[in-house]
Amino acid sequence: MSEHPAQQPYWSDAGFETRAIHAGYEPDPSTGAVIPPIYATSTYKQDGVGGLRGGYEYSRSANPTRTALEGALAAVEGGTHGFAFASGLAAEDTLVRALCGPGQHAVIPDDAYGGTFRLFDKVEQVWGLVHSPAAVSDVDAVRAAIRPGETRLVWVETPTNPLLGIGDIEALAAVAHDAGALLVVDNTFASPYLQQPLALGADVVVHSTTKYVGGHSDVVGGALVVRDDDLADRIRFHQNAMGAVAGPFDAWLTLRGLKTLAVRMDRHCDNAERIVAHLLDHPAVEQVIYPGLPDHPGHEVAARQMKRFGGMVSFRVKGGEAAALAVCERTHVFTLGESLGGVESLIEHPGRMTHASVAGTDLEVPADLVRLSVGIESVEDLVADLDQALSAALPR
Ligand SMILES: *Cc1c(COP(=O)(O)O)cnc(C)c1O
Repeated sequence: MSEHPAQQPYWSDAGFETRAIHAGYEPDPSTGAVIPPIYATSTYKQDGVGGLRGGYEYSRSANPTRTALEGALAAVEGGTHGFAFASGLAAEDTLVRALCGPGQHAVIPDDAYGGTFRLFDKVEQVWGLVHSPAAVSDVDAVRAAIRPGETRLVWVETPTNPLLGIGDIEALAAVAHDAGALLVVDNTFASPYLQQPLALGADVVVHSTTKYVGGHSDVVGGALVVRDDDLADRIRFHQNAMGAVAGPFDAWLTLRGLKTLAVRMDRHCDNAERIVAHLLDHPAVEQVIYPGLPDHPGHEVAARQMKRFGGMVSFRVKGGEAAALAVCERTHVFTLGESLGGVESLIEHPGRMTHASVAGTDLEVPADLVRLSVGIESVEDLVADLDQALSAALPR
């Protein structure tokens, strides 16, 4: 590795999988441990007053297990600074307060993740930050929602949930920057393996690492990644001042998940593609929604900015809400539940479950909609499971 300058780690220009496995941690010099220990410690011995070892003072400010995860997250997103939080929403709240102040404005997706909408609407708004919704798939609508001089953030999710709308990150970054605003991309649905928002012009990447990054439905966490030192300083200050950090065990689980992200995502995509092809031909299915389909309105943009089209699939069932509910209740391999991105397949009815809170608003989702988080089980079993569940929806 001699061609690398001493301060550049050997993985800095390595491939995605190499960075996901090696970035952020060198085998422990005292033991050679290949995997970072779970540093279950709140405080650190100082070598004389202020004589910190490696900068560690108190675990809200920094903890070595969290440092390993934060380095790896920065490396896989093509950023320079990563920050790990107790949840995706904790990351979002810290970001908003680090970058905005009362009297400012944010543009948010009109179909934002429900918890993100609630955070802006019920928490940040009380604190004085106003927001307006816009469809992220419509660049002109986002531009029109910007209030020159007031808008500080343009917030984008792509793909969106549960209708899998696509926002053009490069175009939206230009629109935000023209107005002196920052572009924030929630990259939870795509994961860094499929989509690299910073390279497309985004200023901040947000993750619920609870989903694909963790990948095993065993930990709740969130992350922010940037590549600007000034933004990083503000976030670091607020991460410590607000204190919503990832604990060492949560950081360790998330780092463990991240190492296999690439192979998991490829299988999520393989299985999703097979299921999409099968559902397209199914007599009980009204419509299949997947950005990989050429007739999806965001297909062209998704093909440009995503490596593949992901593991989330939505479809509308013939026979309305009753049929959609029957399908959700009859699967066995697909577990009925909220969340997404784990190795196990999940099925849910957005209208009654994840999106129940937007019923009766502009954000309401179709009652016959079913959302799948396609896992990495044997795809034949997934297809057969959907078939037997859909037979309940077929008119007799
Ligand atoms: C789950 C999710 C969040 C919130 O993350 P938590 O870890 O549940 O706090 C934010 N954005 C998206 C797209 C999500 O799916």
